[in-house]
Amino acid sequence: MTDQIPFVDLKAQYSLLKNEIDARIHAVLDHGQFIQGPEIGELEGALNTFCGARHAISCASGTDALLMPLMAHGIGPNDAVFMPAFTFTATAEVALLLGAEPVFTDVRPADFNIDPESLRASIAAVKREGRLKPRAVIAVDLYGLPADYAALNAIAAEEGLLLIADAAQSFGGAVGNRRVGTLAPCTATSFFPAKPLGCYGDGGAIFTDDPALAEVLRSIRLHGKGGDKYDIVRIGINGRLDTMQAAILLAKLPNFAAELVARDALARRYSELLADSGVILPMLPREAKSAWAQYTLRLPAARRDPIAAALKAEGIPTAIYYPRPMHLQPAYRRFGQGEGSLPESEKLAAEVLSLPMHPFMAPETAERIARAVRRAAA
Ligand SMILES: *Cc1c(COP(=O)(O)O)cnc(C)c1O
Repeated sequence: MTDQIPFVDLKAQYSLLKNEIDARIHAVLDHGQFIQGPEIGELEGALNTFCGARHAISCASGTDALLMPLMAHGIGPNDAVFMPAFTFTATAEVALLLGAEPVFTDVRPADFNIDPESLRASIAAVKREGRLKPRAVIAVDLYGLPADYAALNAIAAEEGLLLIADAAQSFGGAVGNRRVGTLAPCTATSFFPAKPLGCYGDGGAIFTDDPALAEVLRSIRLHGKGGDKYDIVRIGINGRLDTMQAAILLAKLPNFAAELVARDALARRYSELLADSGVILPMLPREAKSAWAQYTLRLPAARRDPIAAALKAEGIPTAIYYPRPMHLQPAYRRFGQGEGSLPESEKLAAEVLSLPMHPFMAPETAERIARAVRRAAA
């Protein structure tokens, strides 16, 4: 009886946008400028227009989009980079790659994002201990919902910290009439295929209103180059976005606003269908707009895996983002305080379950998924 439901449906998107995508790909094959071709500048302009940031710096991945601003600010050994423990690995990895230390803070269960009070406590603890210098905060807009930037910008200003938004999951989201890309002094996003705006490989972008930072980021992206290609003025990386991926994003961008509306409608529909089912539903924000990278339930820890298995048996895939908080990862444990130190992050890691989420889901499919969840969770 059970058709397999896709978790994200990139095929449906491709069939809808096939003409535009194919034409854009063929244009790149024809002009042959596979590196830093004209689509790169065109995409950066289109991204700025979309989100309202002054400068967009496209790059090779969301991970590089996090790494490069830290490099631009000279973050390194003996520096503390604060971040939520309940995030994807890349957030922590970039600090460590530069020799800095991640300082993991707890999250708020209501919105899954960094808890400003926990951040304040972490900053105070680092200052008291005196071993590391507080330098930066990476806030994560988990599942697509912007973090509490009003509080975070205030803390960053008070403490003289660089604030980076890890908006890998939230490009397209907003707070009031300000889109993601303008909520923090520096925003990093990802165009990994399964993100709300995805290309057909790896890709990312950094947004800022600061022209000096934008210029340094453009240099870091090209091996630290200065006035000409063989004039190296700082340490950089090969952080460029491929022209082909920029072309694909240019073909997808005109439909992105409609896709965001469809994602929001699906989230609201799930929440209607799952009301009073006993599972904890994600917050439907009022002031803010989520990009709905994920629609994530909370279930009693002991029941989550059996419920996921029951859904799988009915052809309904689910995902756990993320089963282990960063401070309990084998590679990062020594930077944290161990089990019990960040209770909300630890609890969420045991309770979250994300349902299929994409803009092309038929209404019957959402109903079938919700019925199956209700049955499994009953
Ligand atoms: C996907 C993701 C990244 C990394 O993006 P890549 O493009 O895969 O390098 C970083 N942070 C978060 C929160 C993510 O979800």
